[in-house]
Amino acid sequence: MAAQSLYRRYRPQRFSELKGQEHIVRALKNSIVNSREGHAYLFSGPRGTGKTTTARILAKVLNCDSPVDGEPCCACPSCLAVQTGNSFDVIELDAASNNGVADIREIIASASLGSPGRHRVFILDEVHMLSKSAEAALLKTLEEPPPGVVFVLATTDPQKVGETIRSRTQHLQFHLLQESELEEHVRWVVADAGLDVSPETIEAVVRQGAGSVRDTLSALELAVAVGGIAEEATPVDEFVEALVAYDAGRLLAAVAQSVSLGREPRSIVDDLVAHLRDCFLSQMAPELVQLSERRSAEVSDQAQRLGTPRVVKIIETLGQTINDMKGAPDPRVVLEVSLVKLVHRELQMGVEALMARIERLEREIENRPVIAPAPVNPSTGRAVLGGRVKDPSTPTPRAETPAPVPEPTTSVAPPPAASTDAPVTATTMSAADVVTNWSTAVINEMKGMRRAVAQMAKPAHRDGTIVLVVDNEHAAKRVKEYLTDITDVVHRAGAGKCPVIIETRPDDSKPIAKKRVVEDETIDIDEIKNLPTVSEKDVTDSLAEMFPGSVIETVEE
Ligand SMILES: [Zn+2]
Repeated sequence: MAAQSLYRRYRPQRFSELKGQEHIVRALKNSIVNSREGHAYLFSGPRGTGKTTTARILAKVLNCDSPVDGEPCCACPSCLAVQTGNSFDVIELDAASNNGVADIREIIASASLGSPGRHRVFILDEVHMLSKSAEAALLKTLEEPPPGVVFVLATTDPQKVGETIRSRTQHLQFHLLQESELEEHVRWVVADAGLDVSPETIEAVVRQGAGSVRDTLSALELAVAVGGIAEEATPVDEFVEALVAYDAGRLLAAVAQSVSLGREPRSIVDDLVAHLRDCFLSQMAPELVQLSERRSAEVSDQAQRLGTPRVVKIIETLGQTINDMKGAPDPRVVLEVSLVKLVHRELQMGVEALMARIERLEREIENRPVIAPAPVNPSTGRAVLGGRVKDPSTPTPRAETPAPVPEPTTSVAPPPAASTDAPVTATTMSAADVVTNWSTAVINEMKGMRRAVAQMAKPAHRDGTIVLVVDNEHAAKRVKEYLTDITDVVHRAGAGKCPVIIETRPDDSKPIAKKRVVEDETIDIDEIKNLPTVSEKDVTDSLAEMFPGSVIETVEE
């Protein structure tokens, strides 16, 4: 393995060697060929996409003794001086560490000492880090640039660069590379450097690099150094999955794994916050997410599973964690406590968390193969094999018998005009049958929130229409949300295309506070507990498992 890093060794020396930035290469080469190069550029884009590399190639071609079609020759003394970092024509400054007005004044002073016939290129990296006064000083120079001077301002965060600066520069935006482009590049580097790397490792490093050439080649270098296996040192996805599953044990295991791989607790939080910020943006402003297409899709999926309110809550909590870590004797403990709090059921079981959990469980159930239970004969309580239940008390499929639920005393819903849609009589179970067997034929066919909401309504049968009678407008609204689902189940149960409508029957005898109680009662906690989860482990058990020999005590306040 050469001492020189792969990124430096394979740093592009010509525009044609730049990967994935064809739009920028075209713009720059055109301006050079036509001698119309700008005096100030703003290069923005994620790290490792070639901003300073491009700035150096620009410096090289502007001072090259024999440029060809807008490309440097890479052989003349000037080109070689730039390549070895010994050129007086290229001045690089990291604004993150030289962000004061004095640093900028020094640059301006040196810029005014231009040498005739030559271009001096000033590269200011991370220019958004400049102080306001330094930015003001720079602005004056950009307004009246000394002859032969080109400023290249590079930034990963163009929104933080003042508008006055941006308006005086030519803004070129660098993009992350597509996985196919990166993979091709990695294969070429592997072949050229004669590295012994498996195709699986190449795939893994491309994934880890997430569109950045520098990060990808760093990952490749690490993989080569440890014998060709790419170790995913930052399982940020593991943290997110554990948060999705409210799994404290999994979170603590992820912390332990990261720390054992040499990660500082503080940098774990930083990575997690940066990742959750992407999650948040993927929902609120996807155009601001600077990730490869594939990664963007993964992040968006995570964000949906966490839910935006929870993403915000976690970012807030972790922000506080960063503060708490400062000066803490053991930052790891601060991190662990904070993560456990984020998934602790008793602290989290607010209505929102509960809803999110129910929705997740419902999705899990939906993705599972469904084996429908056989219908149950209500008279025997036994499953009926090979046929549908026929209630002997209901003589015909088109029964006009009164509904088992009394007619509403006050009706605020429109009359069931939908009864023009005649029920299909091909099945043995009529609409009236379905109402009679409501609990087994309909309620038992539903799970989770659908089931809870369906139970808010009392079914009635009227002229071939099933009427879902509810107590109040709130219940009507909830039932309406799931009306399609309930109707599907009713039709599947055998009631053909029988219309299903909602009718509100206000119950004045109930106090207003009852509404809240009704809402709580409809969520069957025992049922939720019995549904399968990713982790069945209790937080306490997980904690005890993580710290062998420990005793967990409950402390009363
Ligand atoms: Zn040259």
